[in-house]
Amino acid sequence: MDIFQFSDEIGPRKVIGLYEPKSNLRAILVVDNVACGPAIGGVRMAPDVTLAECFRLARAMTFKNAAAGLPHGGGKSVIVADPAMPRPNKEELIRAFARSIEQVTDYIVGPDMGTNELCMGWVYDEIQRAVGLPREIGGIPLDEIGATGFGLSIAAQELEGFYDLDLKSARIAIQGFGAVGYHAARFLAQQGAKLVAASDSQGCVIDQNGLDIDELAAIKQRGGQVRDSGANQKKGRDDIVDVDCDIWIPAARPDVISMENVARLKTRFILQGANIPITIDAEKWLHDRGIISIPDFIANAGGVICAAVEYQRGSEKSAFDAIADKISRNTRETLRLVKDEQLLPREAAEKMALNRLKKAMMLRRSFG
Ligand code: NAD
Repeated sequence: MDIFQFSDEIGPRKVIGLYEPKSNLRAILVVDNVACGPAIGGVRMAPDVTLAECFRLARAMTFKNAAAGLPHGGGKSVIVADPAMPRPNKEELIRAFARSIEQVTDYIVGPDMGTNELCMGWVYDEIQRAVGLPREIGGIPLDEIGATGFGLSIAAQELEGFYDLDLKSARIAIQGFGAVGYHAARFLAQQGAKLVAASDSQGCVIDQNGLDIDELAAIKQRGGQVRDSGANQKKGRDDIVDVDCDIWIPAARPDVISMENVARLKTRFILQGANIPITIDAEKWLHDRGIISIPDFIANAGGVICAAVEYQRGSEKSAFDAIADKISRNTRETLRLVKDEQLLPREAAEKMALNRLKKAMMLRRSFG
């Protein structure tokens, strides 16, 4: 396979194949761009991960970190293995992976699919270069504190300044009542908004008078489904798409809205909690009809901002402050570009990220 097939004016800086027979380590590391600083990006463990996937995820991190204004570039790594393997084998594999990237000092490892804070603890023990660590060794548990959901609520506040929206009376629908979805609901409710619909992989509940967020959270906490709640209307998983609301928040899977179902949405605003939840043609369709959709790498950057604060050994409070500061500034700038230059929100956000990246690249010898 041609390892230069992805090369363009941005990167990737390094593409490294990692192999160790003893632990059966087979992994790939892509450090895409480090103009803004050492790359932060997760390590994904799955049996079917590929070089192409690793590169695409690394590039997404370059844009996300630049858009968030973090002093970090983008990178990603993948380990070809089953994440459900017995714990001693997983520990051996993760530790072997960590040792094999010890010299790649411009890459900081974070958790991703198939890895968690325990894995980051092992990486840290080996090379002292990981984020998403257990609290006991300086980690800020971003899903527990709701870093990404908090960021979504900050993006929502910025919409108020640009459009006819009042969060105090806004109706919210959330697809995927997990870590991101629950905390988004919680923080938006603190601002007066009402959760009128929530879904998970098994179904959807709707109540235009407002759902009980604490009840839903308790049910999910003990492994139940949103349909186990006392909500008055219970429907199928995908009926969340048709719910009449002011803000629709996808917080589950990629590509959930496409040209097949976009016309069913009855919302005025979308905050993208999940990564790439809406296809590009559907985003354009929404924009043409005046429905504002704040792109993923602006709206859901709370998690990576929290990780960057953790890397600097900052406190939980400074993580919340940084999320509020960066997401409000970036959402405002994105909406300004949408209004002034008639760009799609995603185009506006990419323009902003690329501007920052190019300024940083001009300071570096490796770029022309
Ligand atoms: P999670 O596993 O805690 O929650 C996901 C929820 O979505 C679960 O309740 C699950 O039942 C539900 N779900 C799965 N498939 C569904 C479907 N087809 N329809 C409706 N609901 C469905 O995950 P999370 O950490 O909340 O992450 C959610 C999404 O946000 C993921 O795409 C993730 O990549 C993205 N994301 C997460 C963070 C973070 O900080 N956790 C940051 C940025 C982006």
